[in-house]
Amino acid sequence: MKTIGLLGGLSWESTLSYYKIINETVQERLGGLHSAKLLLCSVDFAEVERWQAAGDWDKCAALLGDAACRLERAGADFIVLCTNTLHKVAPEIRAQLSIPLLHIAEVSARAVKEAGLSAVGLLGTRYTLRQDFYTDVLAQAGLRFLLPEEAAIDAVDAIIFDELCRGIVREESRALLLRQIEAFRARGAQGVLLGCTELGLFINPEDAALPLFDSALLHARAAALTALSDPPKGG
Ligand code: GLU
Repeated sequence: MKTIGLLGGLSWESTLSYYKIINETVQERLGGLHSAKLLLCSVDFAEVERWQAAGDWDKCAALLGDAACRLERAGADFIVLCTNTLHKVAPEIRAQLSIPLLHIAEVSARAVKEAGLSAVGLLGTRYTLRQDFYTDVLAQAGLRFLLPEEAAIDAVDAIIFDELCRGIVREESRALLLRQIEAFRARGAQGVLLGCTELGLFINPEDAALPLFDSALLHARAAALTALSDPPKGG
């Protein structure tokens, strides 16, 4: 089994779910007392979010690049960056590593295509939706994506940073997200990509008007399957 290098804390609420999903997937596949081999490097989200908001992506790239290199030196076989937004600096992180980084948008796009869908609504932070680092990956995979209206982008972003990343769950916010999913359906989307790692903690797929693709769930499962994809190194 390969050792997964988890780069988390972005936010810690969703990093918790990665740890659980990865271990559940390994146990499902191998049975018994098996669990995942992983290393976690968790950063201080307040620091990173200040830089994101100021547009200082170089500082984000330096901090996360350094953290990823520490995971590599500690024995990780590949890196999993537990957030969508910070994939803005995935090219800079990849450039510093000699091990692979499992890209969350590539994994999510593959899952949407494997489900036979070609057009999805995208929910996430204002960075993920308004910049092109994430949507370019979806487009390159041949997917059509729909974005919320401008005011809804701000409303969803506020729910992510003011509530979900702080462990706060409000029913009004859940209802707003479900209305947004319904609006995507009315505009012709076949499914919705939850392109923020906290959203899946919050929306029950059974309540949604369209099939949901939870990027955190897909990414964590892909990490576990990647770890299991090679013969064990010495057990
Ligand atoms: N975890 C979130 C995401 O998947 C947002 C937090 C962040 O800005 O990194 O995009």
